[in-house]
Amino acid sequence: MRTPLVAGNWKMYGSRERNAALIRDLILGLENGAAAEVLVCPPFIFLHEIGRNLGGQKIRLGAQNASAEDEGAFTGEVSAPMLRDVGCSHAIVGHSERRILFREDDRLIARKFVAVQRAGLTPVLCVGESLEEREAGRTASVIDGQLGAVLDVAGVAAFHDAVVAYEPVWAIGTGRTASPDQAQETHAHIRGMIASRDAKIADSIRLLYGGSVKAANATELFAMPDVDGGLVGGASLEAGEFLRIIEAAA
Ligand code: PEP
Repeated sequence: MRTPLVAGNWKMYGSRERNAALIRDLILGLENGAAAEVLVCPPFIFLHEIGRNLGGQKIRLGAQNASAEDEGAFTGEVSAPMLRDVGCSHAIVGHSERRILFREDDRLIARKFVAVQRAGLTPVLCVGESLEEREAGRTASVIDGQLGAVLDVAGVAAFHDAVVAYEPVWAIGTGRTASPDQAQETHAHIRGMIASRDAKIADSIRLLYGGSVKAANATELFAMPDVDGGLVGGASLEAGEFLRIIEAAA
């Protein structure tokens, strides 16, 4: 039995004041517990303060990115050990916005995945195809390439403590969601790919769906057998909506 996980990717949104209100409302809303694990991923600059506000709470803290290096002359970068130092338990790697806008390739993403684990954090590895790739019938081969690159570098055993998020690029921030069947088909493919290397790890790893998840579509997506929760962007910035999505996962 896999405990569902609902993660909020705040992207480059927020301010100290808005974050404090959002975190306060989430803590209040989760006062009576939740059957899902909850993770919030604010921008780097806010992590320390939010980590302190979350002290003793069940909400976990994650980063949206991490350097592949632990320290050194890498201006503007933030390393996984630093993220751990300010209270993060997770870090997203390979988000499509990083892949597309910042040209991060599979090799770099694999190195980031390894660096995140080396620091004792759980990587949330994002994979997903573009609209063009889906329409060309290439969804499975794109996923094979993205996931295979990390499996080859990190080894399947590393997925014992990792999360994979399937995020079709055409569904991120577009209001267009994969249908539950489309999500299930790709999640089953991902689990099968991991199972071909280690069946036990495949069975226990949590696979999140991301791409315009809202309270209105979360229940049917999370009901699919291989969907173990969600990676939520826009809808995680509004406490009431995010809480309803968490309820749907439970
Ligand atoms: C995301 O940022 O990972 C995401 C899925 O965004 P949205 O929910 O806004 O589509």
